[in-house]
Amino acid sequence: MLPFKLVYHQGYDLRLGEHVFQSQKFGMVRNLVLAEHIAEPSDILAPEPATDEDVLRVHTREWVDKLKHDTLSASERMRLEIPYSEAVVRGFWLAAGGSILAARCALKDGFGFNIGGGFHHAFPGHGEGFCMIHDVAIAIRRLQSDGALRKVLIVDTDVHQGNGTAAIFADDPDVFTVSLHQENNYPEPKPPSDLDVNLADGTGDEEYLELLDKALAEAFRRFAPEMIFYIGGADPYREDQLGGLSLTIEGLKHRDELVFRVARARNIPVMVTFAGGYAQRVEDTVTIHCNTVIAAKEVFS
Ligand SMILES: [Zn+2]
Repeated sequence: MLPFKLVYHQGYDLRLGEHVFQSQKFGMVRNLVLAEHIAEPSDILAPEPATDEDVLRVHTREWVDKLKHDTLSASERMRLEIPYSEAVVRGFWLAAGGSILAARCALKDGFGFNIGGGFHHAFPGHGEGFCMIHDVAIAIRRLQSDGALRKVLIVDTDVHQGNGTAAIFADDPDVFTVSLHQENNYPEPKPPSDLDVNLADGTGDEEYLELLDKALAEAFRRFAPEMIFYIGGADPYREDQLGGLSLTIEGLKHRDELVFRVARARNIPVMVTFAGGYAQRVEDTVTIHCNTVIAAKEVFS
């Protein structure tokens, strides 16, 4: 049994067919953690979709209406880079509900894990880069409005900068945003996070881990969070199709351990989402995400 809950719903799979975003990875991670006896079925909770009220804490009424009523313009559709369907919209609402549930679990158990989500390219009034709505921001706003939480640190290690996150929380002194990403990659422009670490093409394990360690130390010098929302993309991997960094599978596990150890040492709860991961072999992406669960189990047991 895990010392924390995993949150998962089969609706996370957007069934995009032959698409670089292989959303079947979520179900594959779930199956692998069960098959490898890393988790038991009772460790896994199924979320309800987020309510529209919760989504509207972050997104404009206009954007939510367009998504719910299929009235996106051609350019809005293109910018998403995934096909529109009601099932896809429902998948994003489920991911947001999953992030709310995982954040609540983190408050209760010290750690919570959404086997999905991390849609950090969604802005209040538009979506882009495979992201319709920003599940992590929605979870933060929901817990803040419940009075459960105020000061939040977001640590984003996806290879792509968290532009939606940076935009949503730009003027919010209660949310400190950190993004470690490849500089020479989507998105362009990159609205400033509170702390951006722009990495050179080909950055490898050792340098990455050193810069992450420094960034976390700086974040804690400048800010005292009550909870960490960790967006642990699998796409800094050296064989990622949409990334240009050179981390190994082992290096990525060390990355996760580093974030979790720092949080544990300070007794700060952590909530995790997966975000990107586009390895040539989907099995590699699944291994990297599964290792995030293993790292959490090792650090939080
Ligand atoms: Zn990414």
